[in-house]
Amino acid sequence: MKAVRLVEAGKPLEMQEVERPAVGATDVLVRVKAAGICHSDAHYRAGKSAVHPLPLTLGHEVAGVVAEAGSEVRNFKRGDRVCLHYMVTCGQCEYCVQGNEQFCTTGKMIGKYRDGGYAEYCLVPERSVFKLPEEIPFEQGAIMMCSSATSFHALHKARLKPGERVAVFGIGGLGISAVQLAQAMGASEVYAVDIKENKLDMAQRFGAFPVDASRADPVKEIRRLTNGRGVDVALELIGLRLTMEQAFKALAVMGRLAIVGIGDEKMEISPYADLINREAEIIGVSDHLARELEQLTGWARAGRLDLSGVVTERVPLEAEAVNGALDRLEEFGEDLRVVIEV
Ligand SMILES: [Zn+2]
Ligand SMILES: [Zn+2]
Repeated sequence: MKAVRLVEAGKPLEMQEVERPAVGATDVLVRVKAAGICHSDAHYRAGKSAVHPLPLTLGHEVAGVVAEAGSEVRNFKRGDRVCLHYMVTCGQCEYCVQGNEQFCTTGKMIGKYRDGGYAEYCLVPERSVFKLPEEIPFEQGAIMMCSSATSFHALHKARLKPGERVAVFGIGGLGISAVQLAQAMGASEVYAVDIKENKLDMAQRFGAFPVDASRADPVKEIRRLTNGRGVDVALELIGLRLTMEQAFKALAVMGRLAIVGIGDEKMEISPYADLINREAEIIGVSDHLARELEQLTGWARAGRLDLSGVVTERVPLEAEAVNGALDRLEEFGEDLRVVIEV
């Protein structure tokens, strides 16, 4: 089968012909229909975040159809529409039992530590497979598995309560989901912060107040819009020092900042003025949970999450096209989400 793979960190991905994986008793082999291209994949290609063993097929946002189910698979059969939880976990360790399976002691993320979905087929255990309702197109099912799910987890981690105000820093694939999910969870106002007009327009169409950080200081703007109060929850989805610090400064008293964006820049805070004095909290967010995926597909089916405008480009399963999309992500281009159609 064809697979677009990372052969060496720092080099473009390459198309390789590889064996179709053998299906074990508890495995599900999925014929990939759509695989999202994520900003994390650009980090992996660049070597900013280690991927092993190499060569490895990238792609952790995957939806498709069951091609083959192992002899002990109970809930899926050939032809079922499915989407994949990118964490392959044991189900038995302390963390899995608690429902915090992102810390599974033997957990492996597809597209990072085992072959992912930039390929014709992708193999995962049944535990990582979820039904994709008919109403949700494959491309939306795929991106939901990372960007929407991670935004959702971030809002849960930040303990968003109905009536609270939210600011979302960075309107890409995650941000546009965060804007909608925050409202679906009862946020009274959502401020969308970005520097790209098309992204701000889209956030506004989904009910957010746009804050153009290329024209004004977003902290001052959010303070002005909230009568000086600030926001109860801020999500930082970019991973830059500037935006992490801005998101923190935009908090109200007892506000919670959830940091999701992956970066290696350090942030600076003033412990007394900004943290202690406001009883503010900074929360790290990593991945998401299986139970959140089920809730998400339910919400998407009910129209509470609309990802129809989020996929702004589709590319074929070819190395050149995929590398091009990753290049644009590195430059923080106009695309919201690019999906490989397989
Ligand atoms: Zn992703
Ligand atoms: Zn485990």
